[in-house]
Amino acid sequence: MTNSSCALNRYGVLNELGFRYDPSNIYQQVIDSVLRAGEILELPRHLQLILAQPKNELIVHFPVLMDNGDYRLFKGYRVQHNNILGPYKGGMRFHQEVSLDHVKALAVLMTMKTSLVRLPLGGAKGGVQVDPHAISLDERRRLTRRFTAALGNNIGPDIDIPAPDVGTNAQIMAWMADTYINTGPEHDWEGMSVVTGKPLAFGGSHGREKATGQGLVYVLDEMLPVLGMSMDTMSFSLIGYGNVGSWTGRLLAERGAHMRAVMDHTGAIIATSTGTQGENVGGGIDTIALAEHVQKTGGVAGFAGAEALSIDDFYALDVDLFIPAALEQMVDEKRAAQLQCKVVVEGANAPMTPQGEQVLFQRGITVLPAILCNVGGVTVSYLEWQQNRTATTWSEADVDRVLREHVVVGAKHVHEAAKKYDCDLRTAAYISALQNISAVYMLRGIFP
Ligand code: NAD
Repeated sequence: MTNSSCALNRYGVLNELGFRYDPSNIYQQVIDSVLRAGEILELPRHLQLILAQPKNELIVHFPVLMDNGDYRLFKGYRVQHNNILGPYKGGMRFHQEVSLDHVKALAVLMTMKTSLVRLPLGGAKGGVQVDPHAISLDERRRLTRRFTAALGNNIGPDIDIPAPDVGTNAQIMAWMADTYINTGPEHDWEGMSVVTGKPLAFGGSHGREKATGQGLVYVLDEMLPVLGMSMDTMSFSLIGYGNVGSWTGRLLAERGAHMRAVMDHTGAIIATSTGTQGENVGGGIDTIALAEHVQKTGGVAGFAGAEALSIDDFYALDVDLFIPAALEQMVDEKRAAQLQCKVVVEGANAPMTPQGEQVLFQRGITVLPAILCNVGGVTVSYLEWQQNRTATTWSEADVDRVLREHVVVGAKHVHEAAKKYDCDLRTAAYISALQNISAVYMLRGIFP
């Protein structure tokens, strides 16, 4: 298929489903990119249609008692995109900007991610429209329990298995599991595998907290040599110092890389080892001390071991790797034009717009796609679910070993597809994921 007939076909699919073209819509951005890969692969039209919309989109409204005695009504989402490979799987986000299209986009990426590394899981995502930092711990607990109860039997160990994401953590997962055990069909210990990313003392897995960062480092082990780069001598900057960002920073520093700058919602900082002309004069930000500072204060601003930096200077910093590990759509055309890195490593989901990506391609900057780079989280979630269901506990070394095996498989698939179809790495990752999904659809057929 030529490029223009590809575009006509995929807009045909989106038209048939009633989409109104909006280039700034994150769901349309993601699905367009997936369908483009489907067209290169000559994916049957009925599979393109099926994958262009999630199977289920659940919206719940539920009241929560606030500390001051008032009730507030919250909006929660769970989008189940596809389960041809296994139970739906994906994170739960607490953030004030959570919206249906946002959650839909993230759910598609989960379907692609689990398929790329050949996990027997589908794709889902959910969340609540709330700023979790603006409510108390008790309010968060009541909100989590009421949201879980509202989801009812739409989630379950064989149905749909949530996990932490932006604004949620192991404690939230513990409350979700406890609520499910007390209200769902599985009232015994089996009920706890309804969620992953739980605390270690309550069915969690060794290595889950650092899993996404660890997976990203394993991805770099596979991808950097092909790009002629070596981890122990390189420099990097990070957006986000939460779960993904802080573990990526710490684990890369352990391997000898230098973290030159970090930006989060509180501002940007740069290593004091940076020279007056912006050059690296050795060392980098102390990644462990910064993680402790963020734990205490909530953000990177004010960290004593670094200097404040403007947002424009942060993006324009000369580094080997630029790693967005915060929110979606942060790297647009303007930011892409500012970047002075060799490789963008997508720690976050969909951190750049298609327009930003085009600028990077024109400038010859390699992009390592999110569905490969951050696959460590869902992979170790899968291992946690396996441990819960077989009542076993694996060592961290065993978890890391199996994680690496899945990452190696994913990276191999991306390399092979990029070579065979002569395409960029994101398209290659989607092609490989779609090949796997399509093979299972062909075997199972479409019910009835
Ligand atoms: P988190 O809540 O732990 O951290 C989010 C980070 O983003 C924080 O450092 C916050 O300061 C920063 N941030 C928020 N708003 C910002 C802004 N406007 N400018 C700059 N920084 C901002 O979340 P996380 O779990 O680390 O998730 C980060 C990304 O990784 C998300 O895209 C998430 O979907 C993805 N992801 C997470 C996991 C996981 O296991 N946690 C797995 C796969 C993918």
